[in-house]
Amino acid sequence: MISTGGGSSAVAASAHAACARFRGTDPLITGRSRRALAAEVGFADLGVGIPEARWMRAMTFERLVKDKAFASRVTTTTVGALGLKRPTAVVTADARVDSTKTRQLLADAHARAVVEGSATLIHETAVPFPGFEDAEATEVKPDYVVVAPQSATQGSGSWLIAGDAKDYERVRSRIDDGRMLKGFLQVALGAEAFASWSELPSGMAVHNHGVLAVPRNAFLQPTAVVEDLHDHRIEVRMRVAERVAAAKVSRLGPDDDALAFVRHLTATFDPSTCTTCNMFALCRDELRRSADPADLLVELGVDPGLRPHVVGLVDGTGVVGSAPDSVVAGIRASVDGHAVHTGQLRTDPAGEPGTINVVIAKADAAALGIHGMSVQRVSADGTGEWRTEVYEAPQSPETRLKAMRLLGSAVEDAMRAQRRANPGAPSPIHLVVPDGQTADVLTSIADNLAGVELSRLRWLRDQEQGRPMLTWDGEPATLPRPLRETARTAVSFLLEEDRARALQVRMPIVDLRTVFSRHFVAGGPAVNALRLDYATEWARATAPIDHRAFADAIEESPYTPGARLTKERSDALHRALVGVVGRGKRRIEPDPPAYEEGVRAELGYKQEVLEVALGELAGVRTSALREAYRAVEGDAQAVWRRRLSFTASDLVRFGRTYRRWRNQLVRVVEADAACHDQLLAVANPQAASDLATDAGNRRLAHATVISVEPLVLAVESRRIVEGSKIVLLHINDHPCVEAHRDSISLGGSFVIEGMSVGTLSRDGAGDERPRGQLRWKPKHTPAVEVGDRLIVADGDWFAGTAYDRRLSIARPPADDYAAPKSSCTPQSYELAPQDHQWCCKPHRANEAEYSDQTAERRARGELNPQAWPPVRDADGFEVSPGVLPQGDAADRPSQGSPPDLTLDDVE
Ligand SMILES: [Zn+2]
Repeated sequence: MISTGGGSSAVAASAHAACARFRGTDPLITGRSRRALAAEVGFADLGVGIPEARWMRAMTFERLVKDKAFASRVTTTTVGALGLKRPTAVVTADARVDSTKTRQLLADAHARAVVEGSATLIHETAVPFPGFEDAEATEVKPDYVVVAPQSATQGSGSWLIAGDAKDYERVRSRIDDGRMLKGFLQVALGAEAFASWSELPSGMAVHNHGVLAVPRNAFLQPTAVVEDLHDHRIEVRMRVAERVAAAKVSRLGPDDDALAFVRHLTATFDPSTCTTCNMFALCRDELRRSADPADLLVELGVDPGLRPHVVGLVDGTGVVGSAPDSVVAGIRASVDGHAVHTGQLRTDPAGEPGTINVVIAKADAAALGIHGMSVQRVSADGTGEWRTEVYEAPQSPETRLKAMRLLGSAVEDAMRAQRRANPGAPSPIHLVVPDGQTADVLTSIADNLAGVELSRLRWLRDQEQGRPMLTWDGEPATLPRPLRETARTAVSFLLEEDRARALQVRMPIVDLRTVFSRHFVAGGPAVNALRLDYATEWARATAPIDHRAFADAIEESPYTPGARLTKERSDALHRALVGVVGRGKRRIEPDPPAYEEGVRAELGYKQEVLEVALGELAGVRTSALREAYRAVEGDAQAVWRRRLSFTASDLVRFGRTYRRWRNQLVRVVEADAACHDQLLAVANPQAASDLATDAGNRRLAHATVISVEPLVLAVESRRIVEGSKIVLLHINDHPCVEAHRDSISLGGSFVIEGMSVGTLSRDGAGDERPRGQLRWKPKHTPAVEVGDRLIVADGDWFAGTAYDRRLSIARPPADDYAAPKSSCTPQSYELAPQDHQWCCKPHRANEAEYSDQTAERRARGELNPQAWPPVRDADGFEVSPGVLPQGDAADRPSQGSPPDLTLDDVE
């Protein structure tokens, strides 16, 4: 039996194609799977098992895809998207992963398509791997195919449309492009396999488009996404040909020394992407044992182009060529065992009054599922107690509402306290989370609840007008419960955060891990520092850290600092929640007390890490520019508070801002980006140095003090030359702005008085000096010495540096489009709807109009199910029609995944 790697091989071959060791360990060459090979050579891949809850979710999704109601929808959506005729009927069949059965069912489907004009969806197909039809080889197993009649202009036969089902999570209503690409690569391999199969019925052709069924909503109900497979098929074909060719020249026989064979192949190692390869442990071990100091750079993931410039840091010679400061810092930290401080002082609000610390434990069984959440408010009186909730139905809508109520009450308390402290202009509030995924899960939950609420307003209008309440696809809807005030406050704040995503100066949600990385560079591969506990420990350790031993210890830790759990803890919680399938002693009943205890322990670890990280950050001094960041956030939140109190466009996620709004946003986004870049360059010596090193940058440059009397600088730039007006930003990694903290004013611009600004000239520099050495006469002479390393910026970059003694940074405007003006009153819209349609018009009025328009379109037969091809719902709201089956991965006891599968097979 030849092991081809089946369908997921297409994804892996594409991801790791650059690595000779990966290509050389192809199952076609070695005769065994990479997983088996890794175990054989002594480096069993223990890392990438599938959490049981995740597996149960995949199984639940598969069941829903097979459900008649959805099979028929997936089929009509696919056929409609391809511009084909509406099928006279939809038939479903199941080939049970058998190629003989697949052939028979395809022949039947073809006949039905040609004679009756019907479409067929065949589940669980199997087809020989392309090029291996006559060999005993593992097959490709596309989850399903759709067979439909060709249109009159195309021919008289049928189309086969290859398909797969993937229960990808929607994060902030979207499935990320990388995942979709992986899914379609698998679909493309299926299409290639059918196209090269000699037993395809004559008259049936493989369509150049394929279909991926993905969850439409939190209930795992499938929807079909159709895409052109042309480029994917070229890629798959090329990879298969490469693999087959390689297998012709190289072979690992059963009696050959497998380890020697593998070691002979040169690995292209990257710590951030190689973890999904079964050989990862072997390759990493090899690098760790290597006697060549330069291999440390490979192990750390330093870009190959930069390695020659920094090899001196690891081979003892100490010479550094031109490399970004941040890369150099990471290597130094790894070698010395101490984190490197970037020199930036704090601009973030974490730990300050008005912040709310939040940790969650995400459930793997559902996209929006959470096991529990803890919330802690920081006020002028100090840090409050953690308030923890454990959820016994992680994926239920009621849990999402509970979580938002818990968060909402903290947000409301924080807003009240800020208003009391400063009634005229309350300071902004912030959520502080341990990682970006926590923010993503919370925002996705808010998006879900907002969608339900907006749908409810539309249906309410239907009810008032005596119309039936219908979903987008025309099924009867059940009126959901309203989103009440406290939960709504949280939902509204999180959607504000979602719209603020395009802006960089703002941070309604503070990702503590990102903040940490602005101040400290940890040792070891950069990808490790994506965990807050890892990054924190580096910052606070007093004794040197061995980056390898510490990375291993972190990998073995049962708990995580962020939203997602380890497989070990995820399995334990899921089992305690739903029990385990089995007979006799192997059967385990659900254990609610153990579940509760497990969730609390998980949240306890996350709380502790967050507190320790905040404690460590508290030791870093506050930057003079923190108030500038706070001012921008404060402007924006003043607008948000008006949106919230008028319920005007406050439940709109970034992706749903309408066109006029988005056009307006362009101006805000550009101003924000400029402000962000300038604040960062002024406040962070390492970031400024990285920019000055970057050849594409025109604004910043390194300079060295050549003489003090007169002041002469050697400027390392082709763009900052004689006649350029420059601003001094940093002296030897110390930001100049911090010396002027009492001279900063926050008006229409952020103005920093006392900075050194002046024009470079050759006058009096002395003719004997090289061209790059220039005389500089700023109004405020800086205190520098010969040999000091400076970072200077082009003065024209900033707003109005006309007076040569100050630096101004333009304050970006708030996004106040479709938001109530400060002059609007609660009656404004009712009294003069025309005048207030772009400001304080409440959601209720907007949704009523939309509801009326939808009803008119439905009356004209323009909506589903009457319309052909089916009309897509641009809003993509996650409201479930009451009549359709829903998926709940926690509705039955747990079952582990087959041992030979890895996350690559479901992701
Ligand atoms: Zn108004």
